[in-house]
Amino acid sequence: MKRFIEVYLALPLFETFTYEVPESLVPEIEVGKRVLVPVGSRKITAYVKDIIQEPEHTEFKIKKIYSVLDSIPVFTEKLLSFFKWMSDYYIFPPGLTIKSALPSGINPDIIKQIEITGKGRKFLLKEKNNLLELLENGPAEEKKLLDSGIKKNEIDNFKKQGLVNTINILPPPKTKEKFEKFLKRKKSVKTLKLTEKQINILEKIPFDNEISRKEITSLLNISGASINSLIKKELVIQSEKRVFRDPLGETVSPDTPPVLNDEQNNAVEKIFPYIGNKFKRYLLYGVTGSGKTEVYLRLVQKALDLGKTAVVLVPEISLISQTERRFKARFGDLTAVIHSSLSPGEKLDQWTQISAGVKRVVIGARSAIFAPVRDIGIIIVDEEHEQSYKQDSAPRYNARDMSVVRAGIEKCPVVLGSATPSVETWRNTEIKKFEKLVLSKRANKSTLPEVSIYDLKKSAKDKGVYKFISYYLAMEINKALSQNQQVLLFLNRRGFSSFILCNLCGETIKCKFCSVSMTYHKSDESLVCHICGYRTKVPSTCPGCGNPDIVHLGTGTEKLEKACNFLFPNANTIRLDQDTTSKKGYLIKKLKQIRNREADIIIGTQMIAKGHDFPGITLVGIINADHGFNFPDFRAGERSFQLLSQVAGRAGRGAQKGKVILQTYNPDHFSIKTAKTQNFINFYGQEIGFRKSLSYPPFSKTALIKISGTKKNMAKELAEKCKHSINKIKENHNELSEIKVLG
Ligand code: ADP
Ligand code: ZN
Repeated sequence: MKRFIEVYLALPLFETFTYEVPESLVPEIEVGKRVLVPVGSRKITAYVKDIIQEPEHTEFKIKKIYSVLDSIPVFTEKLLSFFKWMSDYYIFPPGLTIKSALPSGINPDIIKQIEITGKGRKFLLKEKNNLLELLENGPAEEKKLLDSGIKKNEIDNFKKQGLVNTINILPPPKTKEKFEKFLKRKKSVKTLKLTEKQINILEKIPFDNEISRKEITSLLNISGASINSLIKKELVIQSEKRVFRDPLGETVSPDTPPVLNDEQNNAVEKIFPYIGNKFKRYLLYGVTGSGKTEVYLRLVQKALDLGKTAVVLVPEISLISQTERRFKARFGDLTAVIHSSLSPGEKLDQWTQISAGVKRVVIGARSAIFAPVRDIGIIIVDEEHEQSYKQDSAPRYNARDMSVVRAGIEKCPVVLGSATPSVETWRNTEIKKFEKLVLSKRANKSTLPEVSIYDLKKSAKDKGVYKFISYYLAMEINKALSQNQQVLLFLNRRGFSSFILCNLCGETIKCKFCSVSMTYHKSDESLVCHICGYRTKVPSTCPGCGNPDIVHLGTGTEKLEKACNFLFPNANTIRLDQDTTSKKGYLIKKLKQIRNREADIIIGTQMIAKGHDFPGITLVGIINADHGFNFPDFRAGERSFQLLSQVAGRAGRGAQKGKVILQTYNPDHFSIKTAKTQNFINFYGQEIGFRKSLSYPPFSKTALIKISGTKKNMAKELAEKCKHSINKIKENHNELSEIKVLG
């Protein structure tokens, strides 16, 4: 019987395609596996969506697939519905959605090579030609030819004339499975003369169990030669086995679960009946240290007890610092960890083990929502308000929202947790879409740090670095350093451009239409609203109070680092931000340095603000709290509140009480006042009014249509066309009349 498959191609196409499976490949074919198929003259990876008996359209000639690329499916059928949902919602081709969700190491990208033809060789006998001469000794990769200065249209021309050919080859796999040698004793009937060294080695190798050869050589500090001689004498058998790499390579000892307090118990009891059973949405709202993680651990345990699996999303950064350890301490080898600094090989290992059901607790950053786990009992999203759940390159998605979608497909509960929930999620509890569970007390006895607010306007007349490291903060830093304590200086310079602020009243210049801060564009000295596009010249005086002293806020972490080196030359200052930590392993190394007290002053952006637990830090200085809410984004106030509450929580985690100095031009701003006391409810009360009056989410939905190009006029024209089309569609559909097109 002939078999056909429906596939998604790893190409920017939305429809599925039908292929025939040759007789010999039929036994291998399964939904969720990747196959290599012909598309025109190319070989393309495709994902098997369905196995069908007869093709739906018989008018097309159906091609045969070349090969099946996987021995086990790389995703489940439920995951396939999830990808499809995502593809529809975010309007991104399903094949590319799947491609981007899979670990990169397993996507074979075809390499295009150019080879000379017989006709080409004949041509060379008559005429000289650079390109053909290059190819005489063998085919060359097209990309390399182009890089070396050869023109694309020359290659294309030669192709048309039949002088060269394109060939597609599969690159060697980037990721190799890792194998190690293992040793085992063998009973011998012969009596052999052995050296003392050999006897020593033999004693360490068991009869009934295999031991890693590496372990023996490092344990006894010997070379491989003496082991080889034992293998030759047939006293030891050597075998090779696949081993799995651990992301951080640290050993974690098991922990003992504490007795839950009443609030924790209540949360756990509410959710238990739904685990692995029914879709339901929860918000677990609890201040930092209230024992949310302990609740997650119990929920995961329950899922495992029921024979189910669990997915736990955490922001990348807290993963590295401690969450991974806590899950490993509880669930040991059942835990898989997925984050972006894994090498392709490590990622592939985790993926395979999850797929094979060996790992049943998946903990990871946003991409872990794509993990090929089966029978999910519960999905948890810690720090659900975190922006890092949003991916801002294609495919754009919000892993927090997608976790709710996946829970719906898997029919299991989803728990979003936070001390500072997002406005949307809190609103969802008010309209009863989510059930709210509260942990109001700290589980251990640590106290919140003392937060003092410093008005930066008082430093306006000060010189140089004291404009942004106030005398007051500098003194406090000195004091902490002299007592051998660590200092964290936080400066959230997120961004591409700065904004403008009055030195006297602290007002930023806001868009008169959208009331968000306008962004300063240096190239033409203008201010632009990034919401509606309104543009104006930089005023010479403050529109609020008439003060001519208007400052550009552009201090970044680099400038701050220089300032610290100048003010505190004897302190060891380190800086952590996207610029310094893009190298793999760098962040982990620096975090270890901080833990080992090798750094005195730590300068960081938001990446340092969250999740870390550094007992040595007693003083936190927030250099400019205004950077957050002057960012041109309607969520700026919310983000500031969240960030400031988080940063403040970094101080005084050890025995010493912590102190936080929050420098700001806006000491009366409600984000600052509420962050000082970490009062989310107060913050929300004000913020939701602002959102409602301006029809921002959660009272509306927003979509961004981004048009970019190298020719300004073309981009502009297309943007206008888009706007025009949308307005046209609106005219013909009454139900769409409320759509507003901005920009
Ligand atoms: P959160 O995730 O809300 O920040 P954690 O779960 O990390 O809180 O808990 C904070 C601290 O309190 C941890 O050291 C944790 O081990 C401890 N803890 C949590 N629950 C309990 C409990 N029921 N009894 C005692 N200690 C607890
Ligand atoms: Zn505007």
